[in-house]
Amino acid sequence: MIAELVFVGTELLLGEILNSNAQYLGRQMAMLGVDVYHQVVVGDNAARLRAVFEQALGRADLVIACGGLGPTDDDITREVAAEVAGRPLELDEGLVAELEAWFAGRGRKMTANNRRQCMVPRGATVLPNDRGTAPGLIIPADGGKTLILLPGPPGEMRPMFASHVVPYLTARNGGRPLRLVTRTLRFVGIGESALADGLKDLLENQTDPTIAPYAKTGEVHLRLATRAADEAEGRARIAPVEAEIRARFGRFLYGVDEESLAEAVGRLLAERGLTLSTAESCTGGLVARYITDVPGSSRYFGMGFVTYANEAKVRFLGVPEELLAAQGAVSEPVARAMAEGALQRSGADVAVAITGIAGPDGGTPVKPVGTVWFALAARGFQGDGSGEVPLPAGVWAETARLHGDRDGVRERAATHALALVRRYLLGYLG
Ligand code: ATP
Ligand code: MG
Repeated sequence: MIAELVFVGTELLLGEILNSNAQYLGRQMAMLGVDVYHQVVVGDNAARLRAVFEQALGRADLVIACGGLGPTDDDITREVAAEVAGRPLELDEGLVAELEAWFAGRGRKMTANNRRQCMVPRGATVLPNDRGTAPGLIIPADGGKTLILLPGPPGEMRPMFASHVVPYLTARNGGRPLRLVTRTLRFVGIGESALADGLKDLLENQTDPTIAPYAKTGEVHLRLATRAADEAEGRARIAPVEAEIRARFGRFLYGVDEESLAEAVGRLLAERGLTLSTAESCTGGLVARYITDVPGSSRYFGMGFVTYANEAKVRFLGVPEELLAAQGAVSEPVARAMAEGALQRSGADVAVAITGIAGPDGGTPVKPVGTVWFALAARGFQGDGSGEVPLPAGVWAETARLHGDRDGVRERAATHALALVRRYLLGYLG
C-alpha cells in the first residue's frame, strides 16, 4: 500500500505555523510500514486542492489529508474531497444531534456554519472527534482508492489517527498488524564506498530486510528494515543479515540504533574501569563535549585540556617549546607530546590528543587545511582476569586529511579521535 500525505493550509505555506503534522504522520506511517512517496502542502484554494487530490489519487492507494475541515469559509477540504471522489454531500442528522449536544454541553448554541461539518459524502465513514467539533472522514474513491480527511489541530488529529485510522489501516491489511522493524548498524573508520563494496552481494540481492547505507559526518550507518507482525518476527529476520555484516565489518561497527560513538567508547572504558583525558587544539573541546554529552560520563572522564595556543600547550601539557618551534603545532611529535602531557597531568589511564588545521586559513602546501595529527597515550591495562584483552602501554600517532569546512573538519577530527580510543580499547593498536 502506497500512501500520500496532503497538508492543507495557507498558513503552512507562509511559514506561520510549523507543519508538525507532517512529522507526526510521516513517522506513524513509517512505523506502520506504509510507504509514503510524497507529501504535499497546499493552500486553502479549491482548484489547487482538487489538482493535488487528483494527482495523489493517481499515484497512491491512500491519501491522507489534514486541515481545512472546520466551519469557516476557508475550510474547503470536505467539499473538494467529495467532489473528487464523485460522492454528493449529505447532511448526517445523527452528527447534527451530536454536535448540538456538544455545544449545549458547553453552554453554547450551534451556529449555522457548524452544520457544514455534519455534511458527509455518500458512503463515507465518519471518524468521531473526541477533542473538537470537526469529524474525520474515510471516503472511498474510484479504483479501490481511499481519501482520509483529518482535522488540522494536532491535538485533534493525533488521537483521531491513533484510535480510528490505525485500526482502519490494520483491518485493510487483513487484520495483520503492520510494523516496520529497523536496526541501524553504525560504523566508524570506514568510508561508505568501501563498506558498500564489501557488501556488494548483499546490497545487490537485498529483498527482505532492505539494507540502506547512509553517510554521516565521519561515520556510515546501515539501516536494516523489514515488515513484520511484531518486533520479534522482524528481529529474527534481521539477525542473520546482521551476523553476516558483522562477520565482514565488525571491527568498524561501534554501535547499533541510537548509540553514539562517545557512548560506545564510554561503555568500553567503564567495562574496563579505565579513565580518559583529552588534549585538544583544533577541536576546541569538541571531543570533551561529545564524551560529556553522555550521562554518567564522570565515571571515566575527569578532565580534558583545550590548548589552542602554543603557549598553552607548553604551560598545561608540558610540550617542549623547541619541539613546537622546530616541528610546528600540527605535527606528529607535538601530538605525541600533547597526549603524554595530558596522561601525566590528568592521571588518567588513556589520553587522546588532536592538533590540526581546521581552516579556512592557515593551510600550507605541505600542511593543507584538514591536516590533523592524532595521538593516544596509555598506561596499559592487565585486565582483572575476567577475560578482557590486556592492553599495552605506549604512545601511538597517526594523521588524516579531513575534508569539509571548518565545522566539518572539527567534527570529523573529534569523531576520528574517539574512534582511535575505541580501537585502542579493543586491542587493535600496538
Ligand atoms: P478548525 O476546525 O480548527 O478550523 P481545521 O481542520 O479546519 O480545524 P485548519 O483550519 O486547517 O484545520 O487548521 C486549524 C489549526 O490547526 C491551525 O491554525 C494550526 O494551528 C493547526 N494546524 C493545521 N494544520 C497543521 C499542520 N499541518 N501542522 C501543525 N498544525 C496544524
Ligand atoms: Mg479551519
